[in-house]
Amino acid sequence: MNVTPMMRQYLDIKEANPDCILFFRLGDFYEMFFEDATTVSRELEITLTGRDCGLSERAPMCGVPFHAADNYIARLVEKGYKVAICEQLEDPSATKGLVKRGIVRIVTPGTILEGNTIQEGKNNYITSLVRTEDHYGLSLCDVTTGEWLVTEIGIDQGDLKIMDELAKFAPVECLLDARVYTETTVATGLKDRFNALVEQLPEHVLDYDLCEKLLLNHFHILGLDGIGLTAHPACVLACATLLNYLKETQKNELSHLGQITFYNVNEFMLLDSATRRNLELTETLREKKRKGSLLHVLDHTQTAMGARYLRKCVEQPLIHQEAINARLEATSELKESLFLRDDIKTCLSAIYDMERLVGRIAYGTCNAKDLIALKESLRVLPELHSHLETTTSGALAGMYNQFDDLSDLFERIDMAIVDEPPISLREGGLMKRGYNQEIDELRDVKTHGTNWLRDVETKEKEQTGIKNLKIKYNKVFGYFLEVTQSYNHLVPDYFIRKQTLSNCERYITEELKTIEEKILGADEKLQALEYKLFTEVRDFMATHMDRLLNMSRLVAELDMLTSLAIAAEVNGYVKPLIDESDTLSIIGGRHPVVEKIIGHHQFIANDVYLNEKDHQINLITGPNMAGKSTFMRQTALIVLMAQMGSFVPAESAHIGVVDRIFTRVGASDDLASGQSTFMVEMMEVSNILHHATRKSLLILDEIGRGTSTIDGLSIAWAIIEHIADTHKLGAKTLFATHYHELTELEKTIPSLQNYCVQVKEMGETIIFLHKIVPGSVDHSYGIQVAHLAGLPKEVLNRAHAIMAEIEGDSSKDLRNVVEASSKVVEAHKAQPNLVQSSIHVASDVLNPENQIVTPRLSQSTQVGDDVAQLSLFGGTAAHYDIIDALESADLMNMTPFEAMQLLFELKNQLKESTSKNKKSKK
Ligand code: ATP
Repeated sequence: MNVTPMMRQYLDIKEANPDCILFFRLGDFYEMFFEDATTVSRELEITLTGRDCGLSERAPMCGVPFHAADNYIARLVEKGYKVAICEQLEDPSATKGLVKRGIVRIVTPGTILEGNTIQEGKNNYITSLVRTEDHYGLSLCDVTTGEWLVTEIGIDQGDLKIMDELAKFAPVECLLDARVYTETTVATGLKDRFNALVEQLPEHVLDYDLCEKLLLNHFHILGLDGIGLTAHPACVLACATLLNYLKETQKNELSHLGQITFYNVNEFMLLDSATRRNLELTETLREKKRKGSLLHVLDHTQTAMGARYLRKCVEQPLIHQEAINARLEATSELKESLFLRDDIKTCLSAIYDMERLVGRIAYGTCNAKDLIALKESLRVLPELHSHLETTTSGALAGMYNQFDDLSDLFERIDMAIVDEPPISLREGGLMKRGYNQEIDELRDVKTHGTNWLRDVETKEKEQTGIKNLKIKYNKVFGYFLEVTQSYNHLVPDYFIRKQTLSNCERYITEELKTIEEKILGADEKLQALEYKLFTEVRDFMATHMDRLLNMSRLVAELDMLTSLAIAAEVNGYVKPLIDESDTLSIIGGRHPVVEKIIGHHQFIANDVYLNEKDHQINLITGPNMAGKSTFMRQTALIVLMAQMGSFVPAESAHIGVVDRIFTRVGASDDLASGQSTFMVEMMEVSNILHHATRKSLLILDEIGRGTSTIDGLSIAWAIIEHIADTHKLGAKTLFATHYHELTELEKTIPSLQNYCVQVKEMGETIIFLHKIVPGSVDHSYGIQVAHLAGLPKEVLNRAHAIMAEIEGDSSKDLRNVVEASSKVVEAHKAQPNLVQSSIHVASDVLNPENQIVTPRLSQSTQVGDDVAQLSLFGGTAAHYDIIDALESADLMNMTPFEAMQLLFELKNQLKESTSKNKKSKK
């Protein structure tokens, strides 16, 4: 192509970075050309223009001013683009011809340092995932904080396991090797779930020897032992490919990535992605809001580092009794001592985001205000240290011992940088008076320069007797002394003649020359010197990066523990007893989020007791809206909170450590991956049955509801049997269902107990008592709840009529179905694909026409007298008419007689409908 030299330079650079939008520096602007220009003008709504480029048509072009570029770059990166920043590498004023240009940094979603995506309480992870013959290596890094993690996962554990692990971190950018990219569902999963930018790693970066060398060079070590990766080749590849990508894009030494932390996925409680979502750990299920999540209730952190650490603890509860108890002890000590807690909290509140400040120091993007923020954070460390002195719990006392109050770093900044520096580093005003003599002098020159000139003028006038002697200035000669011709005879020897004009002579002196040099160069020199001294301080901080990061992490942990203590105090939580037993016993348990929403006193506490032997499964029945889901979720949350080291919302709790919590709650489509609601449900159940162990806690809500009644019931039945069989699974389970027929299982499965949620009939209304008690109920009151939800009256009336019809038709009595399905399940117990065959056989044998049959088996309830045998609303259309009549009655405008009359009429209607109802049931 016959293009201009500048455009040739542009095209060459663009060719080397085809996947990036190229911000090409031209003077005070970054310009984009061709396709990049049309993309950027569309995405950022900026004007598209054109530029002659040597071709027949003008090149499409758009541009942004360089001083405002950060904002534009951040917006593009948030939209998933990568932006390559191309700078002028030479001073254009000192260069003839084309200025040399080059890429100084590529900004990507996982490497951006500022902007909306960088949230205080959340990490911004970039990850690399590679596979070897037997392992996946997964490396994660947050370049804003310097955190760098790596783990490995067996190939046999499959894609789901990888997605579960990734769900903990919700990475924004992911590098996958070719096999993972093309042969697994990980790439689509990452894009769909986390809206991540997913890229395929080029083959050549996966050379093991090169990878090893890269890591050895980065850490300045001789062998991989130094970073604990010798026995983990998949981890070496993952870490090195990630580091390589970061170095290539950031064009930076990344000295703050000074430590890789290897973690074992089995160190933490395993939570699959569905469970994380269902339990609303860090955001709500529907609105994806933080408010309404467990994290929101527990978060009383004072620092951004603490907030991020707390989030990690919520995402990764522990499974080792000692580690859990160590945290609980520390939480307990902080909860018990109000003064200690308050003192620590006050110190923490003065600490800025040290981790991210260190990140900026490493990147060289930290300004003087950042250093002052760092100084203010360091200022409180000695006091914080002293508060820990008397602590006794292992974790807090350990912090006291390894505390580094970094006072040398504080002093260095305090000595050098002014308390309120400007943002710009190039305009001076950064360094304190007394820090550097030259700076002080230069500043003096600036302020005193005119005085000095005046002093020289006065002095020379007096010494020479030249009365009209004047100091003047012009651009050619600078400062000079002007003497009119009439005084020429008084000019002394040390005056050096510079210029003769018709009526005067111009002179300089040595003294005037020195002052002139000082004055004229002062500003420029001052700015350059201040910048240099500032970078010295910044570089000094960079050499102490490890110490700064260690303290950042200590502060984060202390903040997290203090936050848990505050949450425990504010919400009335208790310390759980944690051991390796098989017991899960919670007395007076509450849902940490629901009780916040409806108020502590409104929430009805409930007990739960499970163990692996004789109380393995609680089967919970109860009306819609009674509180089954709340009860089950609160149990899972209490276990999870306990294992992260938090106190729990209960009167007491004894928790034998759980290895995994699985939840299967509610219905959700996964349309993006082409799965139906029922398919998603079955896949989640399948995952549970394959991966749960005896030490797991299963929360199963309405299994089988996504298909026909017979299929669903059969599946639910078979699943319960499978879980109850200790040879197969034997996990502790809460199982809520509307299939009241399943309560029959209590008779055949000794480790299963029936529980139900109490409701109370108050006249015509249901009162939800939300109390879980032993026993079962035979009504779901779905139509009544539908009424509460505002379904049209005619639909409700029709539903009642249909229900009455079905109930009256004994040929469809589900009792037969249940008995038969029980036999089928027995017959197929020995088969490996038990559940599958049960459904088909059950469907074929029992429901050949596939008719929908509503289960309404009459079971006797064992709940309190006042609630037994509920017949809420009477369940007929006439009753709704009565309710409506009552609702619409304008009592204030009725006479007592009219009111009596209305009551009388309604009572008659009620009598009539009840007797009709009885007749139809007979
Ligand atoms: P469905 O079968 O329709 O899913 P459910 O039995 O699972 O209903 P939940 O969703 O658990 O019912 O509870 C419904 C509402 O009842 C909750 O949103 C909450 O406001 C209230 N609730 C539940 N449990 C309690 C409780 N223990 N104390 C007070 N209110 C509660």
